[in-house]
Amino acid sequence: MRRKLVVGNWKMNGNRAANASLLAGIVAGANGSNASCAVCAPAPYLAQCQDALSASPVAWGAQDVSAQPGGAFTGEVAAAMLADFACKYVIVGHSERRAYHGESSELVAKKAVAVLDAGMTPIVCVGETLAEREAGQTAAVVSSQLGAVLDLVGERVAQIVVAYEPVWAIGTGKTATPAMAQEVHAQLRAQLMAKNAVAAETVQILYGGSMKPDNALELMAQPDIDGGLIGGAALKAADFLAILNAA
Ligand code: PGA
Repeated sequence: MRRKLVVGNWKMNGNRAANASLLAGIVAGANGSNASCAVCAPAPYLAQCQDALSASPVAWGAQDVSAQPGGAFTGEVAAAMLADFACKYVIVGHSERRAYHGESSELVAKKAVAVLDAGMTPIVCVGETLAEREAGQTAAVVSSQLGAVLDLVGERVAQIVVAYEPVWAIGTGKTATPAMAQEVHAQLRAQLMAKNAVAAETVQILYGGSMKPDNALELMAQPDIDGGLIGGAALKAADFLAILNAA
């Protein structure tokens, strides 16, 4: 049995005051959940997350990381620095990084390895654009994105989390139907299986893309959907907790 995991991706939102009330709201409601839960905050607020969440069941993490271990890389944040703030998770390969920062699947794979090497869990995002879906390329696109990571992580495949996020569903209010998402999740599971059958049983595959309180239950009822990566709905404690309760 895989435990469900619900992760908030705050993206470039928040400030100290807003975060304080959001974190307090999440902590107040997260106790007793059957699912695991985490928030991925902008890097400047990781210390604030650590202070607010250390005594709670809620974990925290970052939204990106450098593939480099350290040194002359102005503006970058190394995995060891995120581990220094006790991050449990690091999102890698979010479609916004791939689209706006030109991140290739090979770079994403190196980032996943850097996260593992620092003792944290990479949340590896994959997903097709609308044009790719309409051209029938969904399976090929997500398989090549995941494949690049699987090639580099080797035997550590059991230590990753995968997030399927169709690009056309992110922030648009358009959600993949449970059947559409399940089809891709099953394919990703099969790809993990081909790499390591035992590990594939335990790897959590999250769905992301306009997951909300009113659609979370039926999405997470699918056999290969093990939780959610939540953007917009993670910015309100009530919505985030409602999704957590559905998990
Ligand atoms: P959304 O974002 O829930 O706002 O669609 C999800 C994500 O990009 O991780």
